[in-house]
Parts: sequence; C-alpha cells; structure tokens
Amino acid sequence: MKVLALDFDGVISDSAPECFWVSLRTLLRFRPSPTCEALLVDFEATDRLFIREKIVASPQYQKFLKLMPLGNRAEDFGVALQAIELRAELDDQATYDAFFRELGANFAAEFHRYFYWEREAFRGAQPEVWETLSVPFAGLIEILKARSGDVNLAVATAKDGHSVATLLANYGIASLFADGAVVDKEAGRSKRAHLRTLAERFDVAFDEITFIDDKANHLMETQQLGVRCLLAQWGYNGEREHVVARENGIGVISLDALEPYLFG
Ligand SMILES: [Mg+2]
Repeated sequence: MKVLALDFDGVISDSAPECFWVSLRTLLRFRPSPTCEALLVDFEATDRLFIREKIVASPQYQKFLKLMPLGNRAEDFGVALQAIELRAELDDQATYDAFFRELGANFAAEFHRYFYWEREAFRGAQPEVWETLSVPFAGLIEILKARSGDVNLAVATAKDGHSVATLLANYGIASLFADGAVVDKEAGRSKRAHLRTLAERFDVAFDEITFIDDKANHLMETQQLGVRCLLAQWGYNGEREHVVARENGIGVISLDALEPYLFG
C-alpha cells in the first residue's frame, strides 16, 4: 500500500448533523414542511454547545441517518426530509428510488442548487456552530497521526475543497496531506475519477491504493479499477450495506481493527 485514500464525510468527519441542519434550511427555502420548520426553530434556539447533542437525540435525525446510505448526492438529503415529513417508510433501495421519482426532477434540481448555497451561508454566518456540527472520528485521527510516515495519505470526497481544508485544519491533520492529495467534488461525480486523479498525482498503480469509504456503492465503482476497497463500519451505513459490500467482495472494517489490518 503506497496510498491510503479516505472519503471525508462518514470516514474522517462525523458531519451528518451538519448535513441535517443545512438540509432543513434548504428544504424550507422552497417547500413548506411543518416538521422541518419545528426542528429548525428548536435547534436555532439552542445554545451552541448543546446543538449537536440535541440534533443527534431527535428521532427525525435518526431516521435521516437510516436513509442516508440509500442516497448519493445532496438532493438525497431533501428526499430523506420529505420522507420524514410524509412519514413514508423507505426500507430498501427500490422503495426509496420510487419515492425519489415521485418527487420529480425539479425537486432534486432545486434542492441541489440551494443546498450548497445554504452551506456557504451557514458557514459564513455562524462558523462556530458550523464547526460544532462536523466533528472528527477521533480514533481515526489518532491512526492517521501515528501512521502518516508509513503511507501517503489522501482524501477522495464529494465535498467542496474549502470545507474540507477548513475541517482538516481544525482536526489538526491538514499537514499530513501533501499538496494535491485532497481531491474534492470538482474531480467528478464518480469516485473512480477521484481515484484516477490520485493514481496519476502519486504515480502509483491502482493496486497500490487502499480506499476507505462509508458507501458500498462508491466502493463497488472504484473496486473495478483494481483499488483495494474497505467499507468504514464507523460511518453512515448499517447491516443492509454491510451485506451488499460483502456480497461484492468488499471488506467491512471496524475502527478498532483498522490499524492492525492496514499496517500489521
Ligand atoms: Mg461518505
């Protein structure tokens, strides 16, 4: 292994509360949603130190988390919020996809457009709250710090580069990543594009790269390149995704098992 490439959200950063917050604001820009409105009013009235706790404790957030693995892009967060508002039970991919189609293409396009705008606005207006909602997975940070001399560290993410750079600095690990080692959403829709970019930049073969993501479908795409793929059990997935990963020959790894698995 010459390069250890990591997805950002759900692998390095426990950022789902931030996604939930931004998603609530995004949806309310163009759709009435009494449930989302009540949640946002409640969160906004909460002291910064307790907002994260409050979000995580809400049953709607827990439902949002369960739906996250069924989506791929920002608009999927909107789909999840609509499912929560309408009390739709979306237990598998087929039901989820059908519900998404019923919402229509305009819904997805509008949500996507406003989501990034809302994130920028949130980060600009309330940087301290924004940071509170994206905390690192502490165990992973320790491994990266301890092992940064043994392997080239890289990030392959669908998040914007500015947010990633800010959070890596906050987590105290920005210096562990060489110039060009953070490949962000500009690389393309598929993580295959990210991995191709990293192989070129580090001048390594695909089988010299290990890629850790918390989404089984991203790993299934990149595995075809010959990259060694691992599903991060500590991220946003559950038993349903573990089964899919294993069926496709992708290892499912816990944070406790990661360091000995990678470095012996
Ligand atoms: Mg992820």
